Amino acid sequence: MSGFALADAKNSIDDRARHFIAEHEATIRPLEIEVGRRWWLANISGKEDDFARKQQIETELDLKLADRSRFDELSALRKEKPSDPLLARQIEVLYLQYLAKQLDPKLLEQMVAKANAIEKGFNVFRPEVNGKQWTDNEVRRLLKSSKDSRERRQVWEASKRVGSQVEAELKELVALRNEAARKLGRKNYHALQLELSEQSQEQVLKLFDELDTLTRDHFQTAKAEFDAILARYFGIPIDELRPWHYHDPFFQEPPAVFAADLDSVYAKVDILKLCRDFYAGIGLPIEDVIARSDLYEKAGKSPHAFCIDVDREGDVRVLANIVPNEQWMSTMLHELGHSVYSSKNIPASLPYVLRTDAHILATEGVAMQFERFSKSAQWLQSMGVAVPDPRSFNETASKMRRNQLLIFSRWCQVMLRFEMGLYDDPTQDLNRLWWDLVERYQQIRRPEGRDAPDYGSKIHIVSAPCYYHNYMMGELFACQVHDAIVRDVLDGAEPLTAIYVGNQRVGDFMKQRVFAPGRTLTWNGLTRHATGEDLNARAFAAEFKGG
Ligand SMILES: [Zn+2]
Repeated sequence: MSGFALADAKNSIDDRARHFIAEHEATIRPLEIEVGRRWWLANISGKEDDFARKQQIETELDLKLADRSRFDELSALRKEKPSDPLLARQIEVLYLQYLAKQLDPKLLEQMVAKANAIEKGFNVFRPEVNGKQWTDNEVRRLLKSSKDSRERRQVWEASKRVGSQVEAELKELVALRNEAARKLGRKNYHALQLELSEQSQEQVLKLFDELDTLTRDHFQTAKAEFDAILARYFGIPIDELRPWHYHDPFFQEPPAVFAADLDSVYAKVDILKLCRDFYAGIGLPIEDVIARSDLYEKAGKSPHAFCIDVDREGDVRVLANIVPNEQWMSTMLHELGHSVYSSKNIPASLPYVLRTDAHILATEGVAMQFERFSKSAQWLQSMGVAVPDPRSFNETASKMRRNQLLIFSRWCQVMLRFEMGLYDDPTQDLNRLWWDLVERYQQIRRPEGRDAPDYGSKIHIVSAPCYYHNYMMGELFACQVHDAIVRDVLDGAEPLTAIYVGNQRVGDFMKQRVFAPGRTLTWNGLTRHATGEDLNARAFAAEFKGG
C-alpha cells in the first residue's frame, strides 16, 4: 500500500470511529441520563413503581448495548485502532462497556434467576439456636457481648448454616458464569470481570502479594494486642481463640475492645457546614451539589449514602441520612469526595465517553482520601470545632483507623484469592480453600474438624462478584495521592498528621493531577500521572510505621 492509501485507510478508520461514537452519544447517552434520574427518584421515594420504572429503562439500555452488530463494529475498530489517541481511547472504553453486555442471553437469564434465588435464600434465612430464630442484629449483638464461648460458638455456627443452604445453587451460578465467560473466549468469569475493568489477575495478585509482605508484621502486632484482650475477657488461653470469639462474623472489622468514643465531639457539630467550609477552603466548592442533594432521613428513602453524576454535565447529587456522629462526618467527607471527582471538575472539553472517573478504584480512592479527616483532632480544631481532649481523641481515632485498615486489608486478601480460586477450579475442595486462606491471611484458627461451605455465607460472592479488591486498591490510591500532595504541595509535612484545611493548592493539585484526565487514562496511568509511580502499597504500609 502506498503512503497515501495507508493514510486514507487510517482516515476511514478514524471516520468510522467518529461515526460510531456519534451514534453512541445519540442513542445511549440519553438512556444513561434517564437511568441516573430514575435511579435517584427510586432511592429517594423507595416506591415500587419508581423501582419498576428504573428497572425498565435499565433493561432498555442493556438491550441496546447487547446489539451484536454494534459490538462487531467496535471489535473491528479496536483491532484496526484509530490513529487519533482520543478516538482510540474512546473505542477501547466503549468496547469494554459493550463487551460486558455480550453474555449469551439465555445464560444471562439463568444467571439472574439463580442469583435472585440465592439472594432470596439469604433474605429469609434466620439462624436457629435451641429452637429460637435469631435476626442478624441479634447475632451481632451477642458476638459483641457474650462471655460464654459455648454460646458464641452455637450462634456463630448457626449463622454460617446459610452457607450449606445455598452451596448447591452457588456452585451452579459459578458454573453458569464460567460458561458465559468461556463463550466469549475468556478463561473464566473472574478473568473476564477483571478484563472488563482493565485489570489482570497477575497484576492484581502481584499488588496484593506486595501488600501482604509490607503489612504482615503490622497486622500481627495489632492482632496480638486485641487477641490478648479478648482471651482475658473470655478467660481462655490465646491459642483457644476461634472465629466466634471475634465480634464480626467474618472478622472484617476490628473487635470493639478499645474504649472508643469519637461521637461526643460531633454531637453538636453541623456536619454539612463543616463539609461546605472544608471543600470551599481547598478550592473545591460544593454548594451546587448540596443544593441538589437529599441529605436527611425520611420514610421510604434508602438508608445508605451515594453520590451520582447524573448527566456528566455537572448535575451531581448526594443521597445521605446525616445524623451528628463521627461515622456520618466520615461518610459525608467520602460522598462529597466523589462529588468533586465528577463532571463538576472533569473538563467539559473531554468527549462524553471519557468525561468520567478513570476507574472505580480511583473515585473510591479520592473519597477515602478525604474521609480520613473525621478522625483527626487537628483537622477538627482547624475547622473551628472544640476538641476537649485532643490527645486522647487522636490516640483513640488513630488506633481505630489503623485496626480498621489492617483488618480490612487481610479480609480483602481472603476474598480476592478465594474468588480467584473459586472460578479457576470450582470442583476443588472449596471448604478447605476458604479456611486455608482465613488461617493464612486473617490468622484465625479454623475450628477443629470443621468441613462446611462457610464461604457461602458471604452474600457478596453472589451479589457483587470479583469486586472487593477495588476497595483495597482504592485505599492504596488514597494513601499514594495523599503522599504526593504532602510532597508536592505541603512541603513535606508528616503524612499522618497532614491536613489540607484552607489550602487552595490542594484543590489545584486534585484538579490538574487527578480530575483533569477523566478516563483518557487507565487507573494505573492516572496513578502515574498523579504521583509519578505505578499503584503500589508503600504509602499505605507507611501509615503503620512506628506503632
Ligand atoms: Zn464510595
